[in-house]
Amino acid sequence: MPELPEVETVRRGLAPVMEGTVITRAEVNRPDLRWPFPPQMAERLNGQRVVQLRRRSKYILADLLSGESLLIHLGMSGRMLISGDPPGQFAHSHPMPEKHDHVVLHMGNGARITFNDPRRFGAMDLLQTAAADQHKLLSQIGPEPLGNAFNEAHLIAALQGRRTPIKAALLDQRIVAGLGNIYVCEALYRAGIHPARKAARISARRIAALVPIIRQVLIEAIEAGGSSLRDYRQADGELGYFQHRFDVYGREGLPCRTPGCPDAITRIVQSGRSSFYCRRCQR
Ligand SMILES: [Zn+2]
Repeated sequence: MPELPEVETVRRGLAPVMEGTVITRAEVNRPDLRWPFPPQMAERLNGQRVVQLRRRSKYILADLLSGESLLIHLGMSGRMLISGDPPGQFAHSHPMPEKHDHVVLHMGNGARITFNDPRRFGAMDLLQTAAADQHKLLSQIGPEPLGNAFNEAHLIAALQGRRTPIKAALLDQRIVAGLGNIYVCEALYRAGIHPARKAARISARRIAALVPIIRQVLIEAIEAGGSSLRDYRQADGELGYFQHRFDVYGREGLPCRTPGCPDAITRIVQSGRSSFYCRRCQR
């Protein structure tokens, strides 16, 4: 499942071929994904210039000249493919339509942007750009982890009195936007905080230290995604999924990477999802 760095990588890959370019034709091959598409989606996209491509949490927003924005959510298995003959450098040959090509945007510069999603947990919607914050998928979301509103004071206040494990609190999108299982595990390892520790029982000093750590974990992953974009011509054509080196995620039984620590990484299940951590380094 794509997390914030993967979505940001997709946005960065799409921006050069979409921003400033007209959607000459939108091909909508089914009525819905996770939810029904908005009425007349193709007609509302046809002929629209993409002003800019933004990201909010794990959603991509293509702001159109019409005053509407196209919201794109990759869901569990969604992929964006760039093909055709765009001027950018990320084009990939994808000549024949595939089974799960649900929406294809034919761009004025020759690019074809294909949304492919076998499991159909993804979503697309159209909303008023000026009222984007009130959209049902966006209205409950907390501050962006890489923005100024996500700071020490915010996190300390948000976790105060919370009896839930810190892992669950950081996955709560109202506290911070876009964090998922992988990067929460990584951030807690770097912060030396046990994933099952109750949020309210962590000192303000340690919570404050989490803020720059969360930022750094995400920035490093976004940089890894940027490298994958540069290698895109050799890749299999999908934007946004990349190999990244994790310290704890997926490393059950492997040695802890903290110098001098003899322990191995442990996996526990919290709320149905795996948490990876070091019993010695995280308290
Ligand atoms: Zn350790």
